[in-house]
Parts: sequence; C-alpha cells; structure tokens
Amino acid sequence: MNILILGVNGFIGHHLVNRILKEKKDWIVYGMDLGSDRLGNALHNPQFHFLEGDIGINKEWIELQVKRSDVVIPLVAIATPKMYVEDPIAVYNLDFEMNVNIIKQCVKYHKRVVFPSTSEVYGASSDPEFKEDESYLVVGPINKERWIYSCCKQLMDRVIYGYGTRGHLEFTLFRPFNWVGPRLDSLYAAKEGSSRVVTQFIAELLMGRPINLVDGGMQKRCFTYVDDGISALMEILENKNDICKNQIINIGNPENECSVKELADILKKLFMKHPDHVNDKTYSEIINISAEKFYGKGYQDIYTRKPSIEKARKLLNWEPKIGLEESMRLTLNSFLEENKDASI
Ligand code: UDP
Repeated sequence: MNILILGVNGFIGHHLVNRILKEKKDWIVYGMDLGSDRLGNALHNPQFHFLEGDIGINKEWIELQVKRSDVVIPLVAIATPKMYVEDPIAVYNLDFEMNVNIIKQCVKYHKRVVFPSTSEVYGASSDPEFKEDESYLVVGPINKERWIYSCCKQLMDRVIYGYGTRGHLEFTLFRPFNWVGPRLDSLYAAKEGSSRVVTQFIAELLMGRPINLVDGGMQKRCFTYVDDGISALMEILENKNDICKNQIINIGNPENECSVKELADILKKLFMKHPDHVNDKTYSEIINISAEKFYGKGYQDIYTRKPSIEKARKLLNWEPKIGLEESMRLTLNSFLEENKDASI
C-alpha cells in the first residue's frame, strides 16, 4: 500500500509513521511537513520518503503523490485552542481552505482519504456520550471565536461526506478525543502558554510556574494514550472487507475521563515522585484563573466530552488499553527526558 501523509512530523503523523514502519514491511509512506524534528530514525528507513515542504507551496509534488497513492492522510492543521481565539483566520486558511484543496485532488483521482475530524465538532453537545451518527453538533455565537476550529472541521466533514456518498472518493473520518503521549507539544509552545492542557501542566511543573485551572478546572476530558489511538488508526488503514468505507469513527478512551483539576493533581503527584524532581525544594502551586484572563474574550469552554466507542469496537475490533495514570506517567516521563537539558 502506498500512503501519503501530509503533516507527518506532527503529533499523530510521526507516531503513525513509526508504527507503520515497525509493523508493515510492505507499506510505503510518502510524507511531507515543514520540519522533521520528531521523525528521528524514520528518516533513514527506505520505506519512508520525506519531503520538507509546505502544503500551500509544494502543490505539484502533492498532486503527483496523491495520484500515485492508495490512501491520503491529510493531518496538517492548527489544533490548539489558544490559536483558535488568537488567530481564527489562520485556523480557517489552514484547516479548511488548504485541506479542501487536498480533498479536491483526492476527488480528481478517486482516492481513499483517511481524514482527521475532531471531538471538537460535537462542541457543547449535552449528550452524555457523543455518537458519530446521532449527536447534534452544538457551537456558540460568532463572537466566541473558539468555535472556528469546530466549524472548519465540521464543514470539512460535510464536504468529504458529500463527495464520498456520491462516489467521488472513499473516506473514513476519525475523531480523536484528547490524545496524549510523547512529543504532544514542545516546551517552546508551553512557554508561550499555547500548548494543550497535559503538556502545558507538565511544562509549568518543570518551569516551576503556577498551574492554571481555567474557571476552576471542573471541565472534563477523556484522555487517550496515543498508542491506543494509533492502533485504531492502523485498523482503519487496513480496512478489512471495506468495513470503514464512508464511516465516521470516534477514537477515545471513555474510561479515562477526568476533570482538569484532577489532571493537575495527578501530574503534580507524578512529577513530585519523579527521580529527577523528588528532591526539588518547591513545586508549582495549582491556582484558579478566569477563562477570559487565560484565553481572552473569544473563548468558551466545553464541560464534558466523552466518546461513545461502540462503533470503533464493532468496526475495528478495538479497545483502548492504557489507563489514565499510566498515560500521564508515560507522557510526563517522555517530556522530562526530552527537555532534560533545556534552559528554562
Ligand atoms: N486548560 C486549563 N489550563 C491550562 C490549559 C488548558 O485549565 O493551562 C483547560 C481548558 O480550558 C480546557 C481543558 O483544559 O477546558 C483542555 O484544554 P486543551 O487545550 O487540552 O484542549 P481542548 O480539550 O479544550 O480541545
């Protein structure tokens, strides 16, 4: 199988390519990204062909690769809430406009697309568990700019669905629910306060800065360890008996639900027990901060976000295995190892 991954150096991209290279000796991956710092040894593997490039610029290369590939996985996107409120137009340009052009090429050559939708499309749905083919997708008013990402991704889903169900391409949309793990976000992103919550909290602990609980931290997420997520993605790519054809599939771990406050407590406890930090004299305090102060006026939070994974279980014969504490321990250990010598 020939696979094209755009955004292969991103969090999901590099974990996916590593797994493919480990388990599938007859799959060839073509990958593009702006950088390659997370790709490590993969760069030397003859099954992997990497181009350093930009999806807005290297259009001819992309068209050539789309034409010769069996599956296209467009992972390029801005996916951090701070950016949604700071630069909604950049989110729209990349997450919608650039990606819709890729989809049009897949239509032109009748390709299979495995596209990252997001748990964020369910928005503020009040369903206790979000269901792919039933839940309403609920977003706030226009002046709450946070919702631009959710709307861009929802429209991408609808465009792909429209093309797919009319026979112009074949698709599977997958919806990750707060995937975590090694190399989720960089220390640099966290220094600026623009990383996702788990890496933001770990970085605060490392830098000895306060951990901020936005609006008290009662909001809940279901954190999913990246290896579990990638296992589900591998089943989607295998697509035995075309089982994933034109399906939307949540990939998350409902058992790992916890509040942001509980998350802060778990990470602080793990940090205090870590051999490099057990003798630190002081540790970050956990403090409350208003959403407006932390993110600005355009932010609105999501209070619960829990997936139904019945579809993933049935179609992929998949079950997430890594529990909450273990997911956090692995993510924290890797972040601390990676930034051991960083000047902070
Ligand atoms: N959050 C927080 N403190 C931080 C960063 C995030 O309390 O330093 C909260 C944020 O308001 C949200 C949750 O943590 O409710 C998850 O944020 P994340 O950035 O990981 O993305 P989301 O799950 O909202 O897409």
